[in-house]
Amino acid sequence: MPKKKLIAGNWKMNGSIAANDALVRAVIAGMKDAACQVAVCVPAPYLAQVQMLRHGTALELGAQDVSRHEQGAYTGEWSATMLKEFGVRYAIVGHSERRQYHHESDQDVADKAKAALAHGITPIVCVGETLAEREAGQTELVVKRQLAAVIHTNGHCISEIVVAYEPVWAIGTGKTATPEQAQQVHAVLRAQLHAASTRDDRVPILYGGSMNAANAASLLAQPDIDGGLIGGASLKAPDFLQIIAAAR
Ligand code: PGA
Repeated sequence: MPKKKLIAGNWKMNGSIAANDALVRAVIAGMKDAACQVAVCVPAPYLAQVQMLRHGTALELGAQDVSRHEQGAYTGEWSATMLKEFGVRYAIVGHSERRQYHHESDQDVADKAKAALAHGITPIVCVGETLAEREAGQTELVVKRQLAAVIHTNGHCISEIVVAYEPVWAIGTGKTATPEQAQQVHAVLRAQLHAASTRDDRVPILYGGSMNAANAASLLAQPDIDGGLIGGASLKAPDFLQIIAAAR
């Protein structure tokens, strides 16, 4: 039986105690018949709040980053062990906003994935090209290089990760990759993962970048798109729920 699709919300730096309460309750109420897995990756200060709200439901909890270190003098970071204490199942690593604003290298991302895996947290490894890279015909080169670092560092654990293909030019811009453009890159990543994996397990590859209620179904219908990483549309319960409903 094929794995269920995964729809993961990435709230980025949005939310408040009141807004989170309303959003999470609405999502839980609306996802009762979901055919897919659902997660929300929330800002670290709200992990405890959302953990309490989701307790006993099918909604999974995710973080937006994790330190590559175990503990110690790393101001502003949090470890996989700490995330585990809050019932966190997923951690986004290597989001393009962190690569860009925090200068995270491919190796940093690979190390973060390793730290997550070591503590039973599934890293959602983001890869994706910028507009300049796409226009220069470097899309495949860039995503393969980004994923290769993660494969090299994580060896046989690679079948435990989730990958998210997020073209940088599509994030928060309202410009979505066409289903064909996305599928083409997903197929490249699928082949790379297949060659690296010692097991037959299919590594889920999510698409992210302006996925919304209107375009989700056509993207999710592609053979190598196993779900979505949803930014803006995950902040509005009706939109997020329509994407969840499209994931069958
Ligand atoms: P977006 O963000 O859906 O708002 O484009 C996706 C992401 O950055 O994960």
